[in-house]
Amino acid sequence: MNFYSTNNTAHQVEFKDAVFNSMPQDKGLYMPEHIPQLPYSFFNNLDQYTLPEIAFHVAKAMLDGAIPDEDLKAIVHDAINFLAPVVKLEEQVYVLELFHGPSLAFKDFGARFMSRIMSWFLEDGEKQLDVLVATSGDTGGAVALGFLGVPNTRVTILYPKGKVSDIQEQQLTTNGQNIRALEIDGTFDDCQALVKQAFTDKELNEKFRLTSANSINIARLIPQTFYYFNAYAQLLRQGKSKVVFSVPSGNFGNIGAGLLAWKMGLPVEHFIAATNANDTVPAFLKTGVYEPKPSVQTISNAMDVGNPSNWARIADMFKDDLSAVGKLIDGYSYNDEETQQAIQEVFDEYNYVVCPHTAIAWKALKAWQVQNTSEDVTGVFLSTAHPCKFPDVFTDEVAAAIKVPASVKELEGKEKQAVALGKDFEGFKEFLLENN
Ligand SMILES: *Cc1c(COP(=O)(O)O)cnc(C)c1O
Repeated sequence: MNFYSTNNTAHQVEFKDAVFNSMPQDKGLYMPEHIPQLPYSFFNNLDQYTLPEIAFHVAKAMLDGAIPDEDLKAIVHDAINFLAPVVKLEEQVYVLELFHGPSLAFKDFGARFMSRIMSWFLEDGEKQLDVLVATSGDTGGAVALGFLGVPNTRVTILYPKGKVSDIQEQQLTTNGQNIRALEIDGTFDDCQALVKQAFTDKELNEKFRLTSANSINIARLIPQTFYYFNAYAQLLRQGKSKVVFSVPSGNFGNIGAGLLAWKMGLPVEHFIAATNANDTVPAFLKTGVYEPKPSVQTISNAMDVGNPSNWARIADMFKDDLSAVGKLIDGYSYNDEETQQAIQEVFDEYNYVVCPHTAIAWKALKAWQVQNTSEDVTGVFLSTAHPCKFPDVFTDEVAAAIKVPASVKELEGKEKQAVALGKDFEGFKEFLLENN
């Protein structure tokens, strides 16, 4: 399978190059030259498959021989080694829990799969891969824990001092091994600027094999399709076959993967794009005008994106008829006050705690169900992170009901290992050169 740039379908590269380049030179995004259809036999047996079995079948169809079957099987079993259960909250409302991986967020699917794919391609004798990531919270933890102990790789995470939650900081700074954390005296934008400048620095690029492990990497998108198939399989076992997925969306990778699964043949009835005040896509679905805006800060901050990168992929999937997007997806957006209310309502109705991102997806699903009462469709909203990662947004009553996973309790005893740096590029560069 070759992968083309959404800006130029004639520009095609192999899977390996798509993974290591992350983004084509022309600033498009990589997409498969054709979207493979999973065979009838796969769907016929879907309700019998485990998550890693589904992952293998889907990845094999997408990679089309780029990695031999036995190796690919080992990669998916190692990467997807946690569950993604669909939990019933009421008759037609289910939650798909995507927070059972090591960083307690759905980004673990992408980061763990990508790290193992990269490591597989870094055959013996290839230069060590140096991953540089700037994080405002969730991405850094997923990438750090995704690459932890992966041979031939090293990760350097830059995070803004005092601006990530305690659990997020512990996930970034207590790993050791091939993971280094830099606590930057600045904002997330400063961290991002340092990483960007490193990629254009001649001396650093001569010395190191740098990559960004960016969220737009195709190797992060593919594994996110797995859990849509797996959620559908779980519902089939409960006699449900008509499903709408409600996806809390920021950069639109998660829902983009759902649409990719649909294109591969998964018979989803409908998708809901649920956003916070950053409503570029819901506004487009309403007006037909796509108008990116500067991002605004909200309590669901992993979705504070005004110009979602992965929209280019969605537009590409529907390039023959963009109006089809409007038929398949409905958009809803909610402000912080509504998000807080939704957290409380979910708690009152089901005695269940959702993170602020997840709350938005639940609220959008309920709104959709009110508007589509005639349809016998089961609603599934995606829970993208464990609520314990965002302790500041909850009332004491709700916070007290959060069950903190054992892995988080273990973090508390571990020593913080972070190097404090300023936001100037020279200091950052010197650190990289001196700590080779
Ligand atoms: C990254 C993230 C999102 C947004 O996902 P996209 O793929 O960027 O749309 C939503 N919720 C949480 C908790 C996240 O970390």
